[in-house]
Amino acid sequence: MNICMIGAGYVGLVSAACFSDFGWDVTCVEKDARKVEQLNAGEIPIYEPRLDVLVESNVRAGRLHFTTELASVAHAADLIFLAVGTPMRRGDGYADLSYVYQAVEEIAPHLSGFTVITTKSTVPVGTSREIERRMRHLRPHADFAVCSNPEFLREGSAIQDFTHPDRVLVGVDDPRAREIMDRVYEPLRLRNAPVMFVSRESAELAKYAANAFLAMKISFINEISDLCEEVGANVQQVASAIGSDGRIGDKFLHPGPGYGGSCFPKDVSALARTAREARSPLTLIEQVEKVNNERKIAMAHKVIRAAGGNVAGKTIAIFGVTFKQNTDDMRDAPSLVIVPMLQERGATVRVYDPQGRKQAEPLLPDVVWCGSVLEAATEADAAVVLTEWNEFRAVNLSALGAQMRGNVLVDLRNIYRPEHARQAGLSYVSIGRSEKARSASLAETSPDS
Ligand code: NAD
Repeated sequence: MNICMIGAGYVGLVSAACFSDFGWDVTCVEKDARKVEQLNAGEIPIYEPRLDVLVESNVRAGRLHFTTELASVAHAADLIFLAVGTPMRRGDGYADLSYVYQAVEEIAPHLSGFTVITTKSTVPVGTSREIERRMRHLRPHADFAVCSNPEFLREGSAIQDFTHPDRVLVGVDDPRAREIMDRVYEPLRLRNAPVMFVSRESAELAKYAANAFLAMKISFINEISDLCEEVGANVQQVASAIGSDGRIGDKFLHPGPGYGGSCFPKDVSALARTAREARSPLTLIEQVEKVNNERKIAMAHKVIRAAGGNVAGKTIAIFGVTFKQNTDDMRDAPSLVIVPMLQERGATVRVYDPQGRKQAEPLLPDVVWCGSVLEAATEADAAVVLTEWNEFRAVNLSALGAQMRGNVLVDLRNIYRPEHARQAGLSYVSIGRSEKARSASLAETSPDS
């Protein structure tokens, strides 16, 4: 099996490394020459745990290659995966498919023999059909089939997700293509991973529906956490109580500063717009998008309130700017809303992120970059946990307090215990864990009080 992977980003590179580890011959064609240079020099352009080892061993075994030259690779390929970006289109919130269609135009002249073209990128329902139409127009006599094989891996645990998937989803209409897709995933089937064959439309829509559902869970628990603060409940207790119900599940019930990343914001937006266009609006999902946008702004105001209502002239330490831990990905990270809001109001912002600095530097200008939590906290009036990196959990809170000028710690990921923060002399603000007793809260809001 000869595989061509178009795009060596988070999905393309991980998928290529894993497929080559299954024993297939894989060549990544990447248009960014710098990335290819880095990869051929043994450097991994992104941060993803264990990816360096996997890439290195498969390159050494001669099964994994990187190039900018598409022609001969596409010519030799049995299977071409499209793993290019599908970002949110500026202005209207639809998925921008220009990278997908450009890749289709680029591979068209080089198809030879029966070739399966498969989208790994997340693409709106109907895209496989449109790729087929365009390819047929460009190469009326070529022998090819188009499939949809959406990827469900998560950054930070991408290799584990790829090699131990909950399911592999393949949307396919053509029997020869089905056989090839079946073969390429055989190593996973042998490990009992469910490989599901469905229609192309179902596969395309299922990916968006899955992401929208998970985003909805996050927005749901974020709103519940606000309610907890008002009524004296504890969102951790509520989340574990409802999460232990098998029908609900305990994943994605962690309150925080709003979802971000390269997938949820753009996919929720694209799905909502697809649904409007199909005259079958998903009003619930439109609301999820609204709740999440407002969430990031509300969290900036929460920090400002905790810092005394005004951050002008104050120093705020920020721990973590990537959209989640174990990745350097900054796409749509809540920090990109929260940090500028603090800066606009006159705060000096000192930042430490274990892996995100390189990607974040161009996006967060005028912050002071630091090499550790304690360095960031130096002379800070308030410190804010924005990303739940594991190393933040082990911070000595007394040492943190001693380093700061003020004593306010805003924990937007609930990684500390309130009593530990209190014992360290910190004025601790977290999410959905109001300390006020329910009765006091109700008395405050009662019209009779
Ligand atoms: P990315 O931006 O990290 O990578 C895309 C890569 O494709 C870039 O390196 C780019 O230079 C390259 N590229 C673009 N056009 C090309 C062309 N014509 N020829 C060769 N290379 C080209 O994006 P990503 O995060 O890997 O996401 C890719 C797709 O996978 C998106 O549709 C995304 O929604 C989906 N997805 C992403 C994740 C994730 O966690 N990142 C998870 C599941 C699905």
